[in-house]
Amino acid sequence: MSLVIVFLKVRGHMTIKVAIIGSGPSGFYTADSLLKSGQDVEVDIIDRLPTPFGLIRGGVAPDHQKTKKVARAYEKTALNEKVQYFGNVDVGTNVTIEELRKTHDAVVLAVGAPTDRKLGIPGDDKIGVFGSADFVGWYNGHPDFTNLDPNLDVSSVAIVGVGNVAIDAARVLVKTPAEMAETDIAEHASVAVQKSPLTDVYMFGRRGPIEAKFTNVELREMGKLENCLPVIDPNQLPESVTGDWSERDQRLKERNLATMREFLEVEPTNKGKKVHFKFFANPVEVLGDEKVEGLKVEKTLVEGGRAIGTGEFYTIDCGLVVAAIGYYSIPIEGVPFDLNNGIVIHDDGRVEDGVYAVGWIKRGPTGVIGTNKPDGEIAAKQILEDINSSTKAGRNELNSLLAERNVRIVNYEDWQKIEKAEVAAAIGQAPRKKFVNIQDMLAVLD
Ligand code: NAP
Repeated sequence: MSLVIVFLKVRGHMTIKVAIIGSGPSGFYTADSLLKSGQDVEVDIIDRLPTPFGLIRGGVAPDHQKTKKVARAYEKTALNEKVQYFGNVDVGTNVTIEELRKTHDAVVLAVGAPTDRKLGIPGDDKIGVFGSADFVGWYNGHPDFTNLDPNLDVSSVAIVGVGNVAIDAARVLVKTPAEMAETDIAEHASVAVQKSPLTDVYMFGRRGPIEAKFTNVELREMGKLENCLPVIDPNQLPESVTGDWSERDQRLKERNLATMREFLEVEPTNKGKKVHFKFFANPVEVLGDEKVEGLKVEKTLVEGGRAIGTGEFYTIDCGLVVAAIGYYSIPIEGVPFDLNNGIVIHDDGRVEDGVYAVGWIKRGPTGVIGTNKPDGEIAAKQILEDINSSTKAGRNELNSLLAERNVRIVNYEDWQKIEKAEVAAAIGQAPRKKFVNIQDMLAVLD
């Protein structure tokens, strides 16, 4: 056998090099599925932040620590010898997708949906209107939103949307310091919430209680708060759940309706705060001069599942508006993007030769953490079906490129040091005190 053939045969069995952009759930489930395939793989997980885990750290509410524990499984993946974490590496700035396509056999887009869908109503640019990605990022200590500085010196807040993010934001605003003691809410947010004279949070659903997107566990929590009452207009609750729902949705909606009925029976107490669920109310204008002073909504009817305006309006006074109406992905240079749906253009996750998509950039911003698992399994399967030999240098070349550009890579060990410092700085029962800017994280490593 000639040397060339031997060489090609050896190359044919070489390790498949995969770069995953994004270290949230969809990225980690893809890495895990690649490892579990038993194939010879080298997986590089790249994140623009020094800190891994995406929405687990920056999106899941700080008082949902149990949910955040899923990161322990991701840690196992990160510590696998075939995996390397490249934190603090911004794809687009420090290295391009085109370069990654040259260094790696497969590139997986696991970048999520980091921005907000816009309200798109008059006044939505006033001071005091925030999208939930920014607002949630702010209270979760995401470095991009540390300086958001929403003015919580207000007595009422309007939240647009009746999904789980809306509920999260409402809950964080009304919980007592004791209820937040075991959380890792960012210190700046904790101080602002504790000082706030807030008494009323209004949550607006443009459709009815049956169409609300929140899940039952999250809704029930609103009835168990120390110093806050959920308030619902009994006339907005139907007798029963009608409509063409799947069996699963029917059950969920019945549970939600039962929970909302229980809210009606809660005796008025001396609780200081209220969360008002306002259904059949479509926000049409943010009122005020420069700053938010109120929200004008149109009453609606639901016909065929759609909210139809009735031409009747009312307003509520509020000093802050949080639009929790869904997230939106950012188009990636050089990758085909469907602007209407806010996702990359793909065929069940295959985007282009050697490029794959998982998670919210593939499906749009829906589903829970576990919904990302099948995405990862599919992507791993496709990669290993499409690519059976490697011609790429992978990690070594990526390391060289980043070294040439003086990029301070934060590897997993570095992250563990940052995490240790956060845990050491925790106050009281809090699990950690988060660093809220990148310089402070990197300073731990110097
Ligand atoms: P979501 O579940 O899609 O809810 C969005 C809400 O905004 C809906 O009530 C929607 O009403 C409303 N909306 C959309 N556009 C609007 C507009 N222009 N004007 C007024 N209202 C509008 O989105 P999300 O709350 O951002 O959550 C994203 C995903 O993360 C969901 O799958 C959610 O379950 C998940 N999540 C889960 C948890 C948890 O498990 N604890 C926590 C947070 C997030 P329509 O229904 O009428 O469109």
